[in-house]
Amino acid sequence: MMTPVVQTETAVLAHNFQGELIYLGDAAYDEARAIWNGMIDRRPALIARCATVADVQTAVKFARETGWPLSVRGGGHNVAGHAVNDNGIVIDLSLMNSVAVDPDGHLAYVGGGATIADVDRATQAFGLAAPMGVVSETGVAGLTLGGGFGHLRNKYGLSADNLVAANVVTADGHIVHANEQENSDLLWGLRGGGGNFGIVTQFVYKLYPLGPEIYFTGVFHHGDHAEAGLKLYREFNAIAPDEVSTLAFLGIVPDGAEPFPPEAHGERFVGFVALYAGDPAEGEAIMRPLRKLTAEPLADFSGVMPYVDAQQFFDEDYPSGELRYYWKSLNLLSLNDEAIARIVEHVYRQPSQHSTTDLWHIGGAVKRFNSDHGAFYGRHAAYLLNPEANWEDAADDEANIAWAQTLIDAMAEFSDGSRYLNFAGFQEEGDGMMTAAFGPQYARLAQLKQKYDPTNLFNRNQNIKPQS
Ligand code: FAD
Repeated sequence: MMTPVVQTETAVLAHNFQGELIYLGDAAYDEARAIWNGMIDRRPALIARCATVADVQTAVKFARETGWPLSVRGGGHNVAGHAVNDNGIVIDLSLMNSVAVDPDGHLAYVGGGATIADVDRATQAFGLAAPMGVVSETGVAGLTLGGGFGHLRNKYGLSADNLVAANVVTADGHIVHANEQENSDLLWGLRGGGGNFGIVTQFVYKLYPLGPEIYFTGVFHHGDHAEAGLKLYREFNAIAPDEVSTLAFLGIVPDGAEPFPPEAHGERFVGFVALYAGDPAEGEAIMRPLRKLTAEPLADFSGVMPYVDAQQFFDEDYPSGELRYYWKSLNLLSLNDEAIARIVEHVYRQPSQHSTTDLWHIGGAVKRFNSDHGAFYGRHAAYLLNPEANWEDAADDEANIAWAQTLIDAMAEFSDGSRYLNFAGFQEEGDGMMTAAFGPQYARLAQLKQKYDPTNLFNRNQNIKPQS
């Protein structure tokens, strides 16, 4: 029910707003406040679903003038639940999800509330692709602003690396256009510095010819071969061409999980996922060693397939709102034999069969972009380690969170303490985590924050404090 106070306070906003305003008590309220992580249960006073850039400006002005807590929602997939708050306003961009492709200029103009699936669908119609993440329901906004690891990263870089321009509504309500020529400092910050500088209403990405068919590797070997598998993975990555971006992951095949054969259910696995951004036949030959770790894998889903299908390979594993999620990360400077042994010793203690531990190889183009190009920090690492705790019952929260944290703690000696902020758990480490995550980039980010958001209006995010 909208209280008289809320009604009075929001009257001007409501008068000027073209999108949907959803208040506590409205029929659409519970659906509108729900986000991907089933652990998060927050009750904003108002969800402002913007239809236009002017709506975003109106909502920002409202938040600034009232002092209400402010969250910004793109795809709603931030693990810590930054997209929603208690008793404040959520500026929800989900209606602003259009994608326009310039096939000659190899550019995509993408609304701030689009998902990866929106981008893939529109760009593949022209045989083009933008580097995005590996689960298609994820929002491009949080993904890009935090970095963006995906299947094309070693060939073309992160999502953030391929952001060539953006329109941003800043804390003062102005629209700022950022590209390499105009406001290039802001563009630099948007390439990995999070949602700190304003609300991006449009992202412009560089596109590359790809597909429609590609060769995709998705293979699960028995966990008895985990150490040998990670060693093979390391040797493979050392010589693999940039066309290949790989992810190794360890876990347990959940009971009843389809389309795994019944004999695989409940078994520990070491798996590899990889995509070849080039000729499919060449990709099959080059990636074959990953499939041949064992003579009879638990399951092998590899093959030539449409790029959009490969982009949705993991979708069913991450249902929205149904599971509880806690994802953490650590940059590993090397993956030596000791590190591999340590990972294997810890991972299978996972309390939930839904959890996995992922190792993202960092190579090729990701390493070639540098700190002048964007704020993202982490290119110096060899691998990104990412335990994903995924479970069903609230009673198991503590055990699952502890599992992920224990693994991260156990790997500290193989890292410099930097991590990927899009897999940052609940950011329990506070400002210390932010400075470690950005290393030498932090000071420049704090100056930029001071310039574009001196009062820290945008603070429910991977927050950078304005340099005072
Ligand atoms: P939201 O929760 O909507 O937004 C997150 C934050 O981004 C907000 O709090 C706000 O600060 C900011 N924000 C959102 N929209 C805007 C905007 N328009 N303008 C300014 N700021 C905005 N990461 C990878 O790198 N690679 C992957 O393959 C990958 N896969 C994932 C799969 C799943 C199932 C999930 C849940 C996450 C995955 N991630 C991946 C992590 C993902 O990048 C982050 O969770 C990211 O925050 C999601 O963005 P979102 O827009 O959906 O989130």
